[in-house]
Amino acid sequence: RAKDAGRNRYRLFEPAMTVATQERMALEVSLRPALARGEFELHYQPRYALDGMRLFGVEALIRWNHPQRGQVSPQQFIGIAEETGLIVEIGRWVMEEACARTRRLMDEHGHSMVVSVNVSARQLAQAGFADEVRAVLARTGLPPGCLELELTESALIEDIERTASMLRELKLLGIRLAVDDFGTGYSGLAYLRRFPIDVLKLDRSFVLQDDGNGSTFDFVKAFVDLAHALGMAVVAEGVETGDVLDFLRAARCDQAQGYYLARPMALDKLEALLAAPSGSGA
Ligand code: C2E
Ligand code: MG
Ligand code: MG
Ligand code: MG
Repeated sequence: RAKDAGRNRYRLFEPAMTVATQERMALEVSLRPALARGEFELHYQPRYALDGMRLFGVEALIRWNHPQRGQVSPQQFIGIAEETGLIVEIGRWVMEEACARTRRLMDEHGHSMVVSVNVSARQLAQAGFADEVRAVLARTGLPPGCLELELTESALIEDIERTASMLRELKLLGIRLAVDDFGTGYSGLAYLRRFPIDVLKLDRSFVLQDDGNGSTFDFVKAFVDLAHALGMAVVAEGVETGDVLDFLRAARCDQAQGYYLARPMALDKLEALLAAPSGSGA
């Protein structure tokens, strides 16, 4: 009887497991050659300074044009790339591509901008990571101040001493460092003080939390003030409405990014945006 029950459980459970595992393995198998086959592409999402709505820069977001599946979202494959270690090579490509394209955009359109590149814990843990970044800047000619690396809180807490020394090494290159998805992790501002962070990117959920008492505004505003006191700029991500934008401006948030302002776009769309008569404004 026990054996039967066990087998029944097994039967009920197995198909779903198998489908999920097969799906994952299929993605992993096609992820390996994707780089060599040129299936990756970067899209760029504009980020605006709230004071005057000038274009401050763009975030580079990877897209995978899968030959059979069409566009696969990074949410589906970045995790796999991280677990398999493929993220190190993919990340190298992203960095080179983002810096080279931004350098060219700046030359063509004659104004400076900052490109933000997402970096996984696995990349940051590579001993030669800062040297790689230095080499990319040298090769592409992008001024260091035009490159920002976005790190997640979870990447920062992995090995605090090593991470802190890597971040100091990166800061010496003259680049900018940002903490991505802030508010979704475990750390607080006090914790981040030990790292040379220039920018906090507030996660969408952080701004949207509403307890119904109107205290969210006070909270976000106090938070922005504290970040400023610690010398960090604050960027809100995932801004989808004008109301949220007004709210953020009132809270003295520095910059914003989100569908309300602009969606991530292919390079040709970004070039058109930069060339438009309204210039770099939203
Ligand atoms: P992220 O770095 O937090 O990027 C912001 C994500 O929010 C992007 O999703 C963007 O398309 C989306 N987004 C922008 N504005 C809005 C909005 O107003 N509303 C909503 N709901 N979403 C908005 P995407 O492009 O699917 O990327 C997802 C995540 O994948 C990124 O989150 C980042 O963690 C990771 N990722 C993307 N590109 C790379 C990469 O080159 N390297 C690494 N390591 N990770 C990457
Ligand atoms: Mg990001
Ligand atoms: Mg983010
Ligand atoms: Mg996010």
